[in-house]
Amino acid sequence: MTMKFSLPTLLALPSFAFAQPYFQQQVDYTIDVRLDDVGHMLHAQERFTYTNNSTTTLDTLWIHLWPNAYRDRTTALCEQLDRMGDLDLHFATEAERGWIDSLDFQSNDVKLAWGYHPEHPDIGWIKLPTPLVPGTSVTITTPFRVKIPDGKFSRLGHTEQAYYITQWYPKPAVFDAQGWHAMPYLTLGEFYSEFGSFDVSITLPANYVVGATGELQNAEERAWMDSLAMDRSAQRGSLPMAKANDFPPSDAATKTLRYRQDRVHDFAWFADKRFLVRRSSVFLPRSERTVNTWVLFTPRNRLVWEEAVNYVNEAVKHYSEWVGDYPYSACTAVDGTISAGGGMEYPMITVIGNTDDAMALDEVITHEVGHNWFYGILGSNERDHAWMDEGMNSFVELRYMRKRYPGQPAVLAQGIPQFFLGQDVVGHRDMSEQAFRLNARRNLDQPPNLTSDDFTPTNYGLDVYMKTALVMDHLFAYLGDETFDRCMHAYYDEWKFKHPQPGDMRTIFERESGKDLSWVFDEFIGGDRKVDVRASRLKGNRLSYKSSANGLLPMPITAWNGTDSIGTTWLTTGEIIRGHSSDRNSGYSRPVRSHHRMELELPWPNADRVRIDAGNRTMDIDRRNNTVRSNGLFKRCTTPKFVPFFGLEQQDRHSIYYSVVPAWNGHDGFQAGLVLRNTTFPPQRTEWVFAPLYAFGSERLVGGARIDHHFDRIRSNVFQNIHVGLSGRTAGTLHDHDVTAWYEKLSPSVLFDLKRDPLSKPWQHRIGLRGVYLRNSVEYQPEGTYAYISRSDEYYGELFYRAEDSRKLHPSVVQPTITSTYDWVRASLELKQAFAYNARSKQLRLRGFVGSFLWERGGGRISSLQAWGLTWGPEDMLYDQAYFERGAAEGFTGRQFNKQQGAFKTPFAQGGSDSWIASANMELDLPFSLPIALFASAGIVPRTTITVDGSTEGTATYFEAGVGIAAIRDVLEIWFPFYVSERIVEEEDFAERTVTDRIRFVFALEKMDPTKLLRNLKP
Ligand SMILES: [Zn+2]
Repeated sequence: MTMKFSLPTLLALPSFAFAQPYFQQQVDYTIDVRLDDVGHMLHAQERFTYTNNSTTTLDTLWIHLWPNAYRDRTTALCEQLDRMGDLDLHFATEAERGWIDSLDFQSNDVKLAWGYHPEHPDIGWIKLPTPLVPGTSVTITTPFRVKIPDGKFSRLGHTEQAYYITQWYPKPAVFDAQGWHAMPYLTLGEFYSEFGSFDVSITLPANYVVGATGELQNAEERAWMDSLAMDRSAQRGSLPMAKANDFPPSDAATKTLRYRQDRVHDFAWFADKRFLVRRSSVFLPRSERTVNTWVLFTPRNRLVWEEAVNYVNEAVKHYSEWVGDYPYSACTAVDGTISAGGGMEYPMITVIGNTDDAMALDEVITHEVGHNWFYGILGSNERDHAWMDEGMNSFVELRYMRKRYPGQPAVLAQGIPQFFLGQDVVGHRDMSEQAFRLNARRNLDQPPNLTSDDFTPTNYGLDVYMKTALVMDHLFAYLGDETFDRCMHAYYDEWKFKHPQPGDMRTIFERESGKDLSWVFDEFIGGDRKVDVRASRLKGNRLSYKSSANGLLPMPITAWNGTDSIGTTWLTTGEIIRGHSSDRNSGYSRPVRSHHRMELELPWPNADRVRIDAGNRTMDIDRRNNTVRSNGLFKRCTTPKFVPFFGLEQQDRHSIYYSVVPAWNGHDGFQAGLVLRNTTFPPQRTEWVFAPLYAFGSERLVGGARIDHHFDRIRSNVFQNIHVGLSGRTAGTLHDHDVTAWYEKLSPSVLFDLKRDPLSKPWQHRIGLRGVYLRNSVEYQPEGTYAYISRSDEYYGELFYRAEDSRKLHPSVVQPTITSTYDWVRASLELKQAFAYNARSKQLRLRGFVGSFLWERGGGRISSLQAWGLTWGPEDMLYDQAYFERGAAEGFTGRQFNKQQGAFKTPFAQGGSDSWIASANMELDLPFSLPIALFASAGIVPRTTITVDGSTEGTATYFEAGVGIAAIRDVLEIWFPFYVSERIVEEEDFAERTVTDRIRFVFALEKMDPTKLLRNLKP
């Protein structure tokens, strides 16, 4: 996020740069609001008192006006949603958008100067009537009106007459030791607010059921809510499903509900006329207080929500025990269709998205209720340190799920067939770990302690939530329940109702545990290093191991003698306990640089097998190298397991996946064979696929293989990743009764992915270098004679650079390529630019291509496959593309093509060139649900005209236009050119081809390789 204007440069400095002691501002609100449920508007009057507890005199207040985030396309919210590929807000209608207006800030009936932030319409400033000196306060009033946006965009909204009223009122930004924290509203990125009191009166039609922050003050309404909660046969609940979820008409009479609450930093409310109500309570033994718990849910979700109030109870109970007692009198969970994830938290109230599964509902409710602690009470800066709320909360949630559902598969793992996951139960921790590894194994993870807008949407989940939870679980396993709980309780007691910074939490955890926790806060929360610990040798009681940790890292070691477990002990890798590091002669404890072999003395003299992290509780990125034996032939290896089809990576051994596949092509006929591979979830550092097939038609062994090594733990400012690979393939190119032809291809490659910093930047850059060796063989065997084999070999080198912006709104590609062989060098440039014109990503796609030979050895050395072409059949020079029948000229298989070079859809023989070529292509999706598109192409090639007067150099131009179906863009398409330019018409007449001969299809099977799927997923 760019905050060039509103934030002082001081913000960039860490907080310890300031000598001033901790302080905290206070804001106390009184708001009267009326809901207009016809126009979906809020009409309100607000008064807030701002108390300056800092040592700085303030002359301006920065104020959040977040309903304006939904105003237009210029807001940070819309820009972020565009970047995430969610185009709903971008293409929203005026009726769907939202805003805040009618503001008139006054103090003591004097109008105040105020205005909008120059970049962000959802941030404002107010000039104070007189500078606010330390220790004083100012009271400001304003009316305001909010147009409630459609609920599909983010958190504030309505779905018809279901209202989610959040981030809805003018609200001063936080001023802390770092300065002002004015921030535009974002979907991916949360909040930071001052604590204070709220006194909110809500006026709305009398038949609305309302859930809100704070204590309800109206006795009559409390009685009504109680009666709803008691009524198990609530009429609305017994209506047929379809009817029950309709909105009843709003009462003409209105009611005014008043809610009051101290020591909270936000106020949200939810109103729905259909809500069913359940009520319970939970007793907190430590503080001897009772918390009233509520759930409000729609009739449609009645089945799964009927018992949900118990989940609220359990969550309040467990978080109170593990973190600190819930300080408020009530806790509510509300059923709502929301677009910001599975649920969303506000003080004392949470809103939960749709789910059909009881355990999933328990998990989401627990997570959102848990935010009362990590967000509500411990009011950290969520925008800059999202791990402090989402990550810490996810850890307690993990602990809760482990306790409540021992031995059960994770919610994410439910519904996935068992054979897909492997034979073990994939528990909550395992699932988070494997998910975290999706990007971590590709070096595409990010340090959890980044500001929210720097994360990719996937990494916001995988690193902020999951990695932090895993790191905390590592710490939890190391410290044990008692010490860990002591740390957490101390953190809660010292920072409740305050704004803790990462360093504040670390200080307490290090103080209470007595441990150096650099590995937690620097290495894993502050960094993205992938740590691999491996056991290398066990001799007597001496264990050698390697660790790529940067500093000290505690790891548990478990030993066995035969099948008897001897015990588990924690060692701190990097620390030289009583051994030596192989390249240093020091003997004292201190961090040792990565990948040094270290040795330590085990407390057991008789261990014959040792495993590091046998319980799977640490941040080790790969546990398959963690076991070592003292004797036997393969001391470190376990035999790989053969697994049919697919399975998640196993923690203790490598797996080889096998499947039997049928295949067909026009030359080799029907084929059958075995695909062996090690590719699985999560991605592997070295990936290989071996697919030998027997072709029954050509009676040959065909198929392919590849191996790629990904240098995906590199730490570089230049490269994100380096991939080195070798692939090979053979297939037939002709087969009839006395001639068989085939090709063999071998291709080494190295790809460099340039560093994106931050990874959320839209452009990615790749440089690729590869060689292609092609051998074409023809075996000619007339009946009753010997076979003659002729061969031709070709070698190519290719260097390319690809810059790609894959944002849905306007994706772009720029790709220059240089290709050479012995006889020539040629260069090309391909440009692609598309523009989405609606929320369903219907596009206008433009493409330009120019290519030219730069050098030729001279005269006739360029074959037809090597020459440029405006249009291509089922062929390509480097045999990169898969075709049903390579080289087929007619029939169904002859209609397959690939959009390369000139990328014309019409087949024709002209348009080839051994010097240069240029083309432009356009495709325009029609705005229907069927994927129909119009297209047009133009191309130009040089042309030599020979007449009696000699030859003249000129050019020839070609055009085409038509319609097609792009079922899967660039992968599965069919095209019908209905207009072609004159030269093509002439050729068609001469060759006696008809209009229907122009119909061709794209089926780019090579782009759908399932073994590359995970590798190519967006980070
Ligand atoms: Zn959360």
